[in-house]
Amino acid sequence: MILSFFNKCVLIFFVCIAFQGLAQDSLATATAEKGDGILSLLRKHGVNPYEAYDDFIAMNMDNLRDSVHLYEGRVYRIPAVTLDSVVIVDAIEKKSTEIKNIESKEYSIFGDKHNDVLIKSKKLEGAVYYLVSGHGGPDPGAMAVYKNKSIAEDEYAYDITLRLAKELLAHSATVYIIIQDLNDGIRDERILEIDHDEVAYGGKDIPLNQTARLKQRVDIINDLHRKNRGKYQRLIVTHIDSRSKGQNIDVFFYHHEKSKNGKKLAESVHKTFGKKYKKYQPNRNYTGTFRDRTGLYLVKKTHPAMAYIEIGNIKNKKDQKRILEPDNRQALAKWISEGVLLDFEGGEIGRIR
Ligand SMILES: [Zn+2]
Repeated sequence: MILSFFNKCVLIFFVCIAFQGLAQDSLATATAEKGDGILSLLRKHGVNPYEAYDDFIAMNMDNLRDSVHLYEGRVYRIPAVTLDSVVIVDAIEKKSTEIKNIESKEYSIFGDKHNDVLIKSKKLEGAVYYLVSGHGGPDPGAMAVYKNKSIAEDEYAYDITLRLAKELLAHSATVYIIIQDLNDGIRDERILEIDHDEVAYGGKDIPLNQTARLKQRVDIINDLHRKNRGKYQRLIVTHIDSRSKGQNIDVFFYHHEKSKNGKKLAESVHKTFGKKYKKYQPNRNYTGTFRDRTGLYLVKKTHPAMAYIEIGNIKNKKDQKRILEPDNRQALAKWISEGVLLDFEGGEIGRIR
């Protein structure tokens, strides 16, 4: 008897479920080799690294340096194969694109290696996010030299922003990436090449003049905000050049002083970071804080409720270590996304901002 296409899909699905059951019974382990990070180790063992990341950290917490680094030669527990294996099997099966379309969507902006977004939930359905990575185009932002290589703030802020976008899309949000580099994608390297071909949403060239540059972003965001009137909308701006003077404070969250919803968003992300630091880095105190920064042009002029996040300072040696590691950029994006989810689940305060 010839099985229909649908039945074949169902069959593949159940075969995977059966394998999943098996995988959970036997404990998978792997030895970290030289140069391995969490993502590459998971990938090598056929597990979707982004899906299994949290579980991996929870299972191997005692065996990680700074909560995110592997020790070469040590044995790590690999989380059980998850439902994503269905998609992986489907991708090999080629024919079963129907299932694949339900489970994942492709976005070329994330680059060849990361363009598949697996839909994890509908938690953020109806929510609209505007993501702005600091600087871009002719303006690289803060610069530093790391092992004789120049590194620039805009490339790292962009990479974290893309990773955040992917997380939010995975929970069915509508996401606008306001600064875009069409040929960079998510990058798993420590040194991110500096280029100047970023454009603003709609393919617009980014002006060199600072006021014109900021005004361009503000106009794009406020236009979209008008078009999406009535929806839950939030703006998240990411920089890696701390304006604050405190030396020990590594992540800052700002919001407009009059925006209750902006305050709630910033607080939700702040809360999540606090929890993560406690969970993953018991020896390290989390010292991030948020405050009003009414002086910032973007904070003042944009209409959606917003959180302005400074993820350390690229000129700071300690911060460089954290930001250059792709696993860390992924963790930071994940934490921000969890704060965003927390905020959305808390609902809106009033109608404006
Ligand atoms: Zn900046």
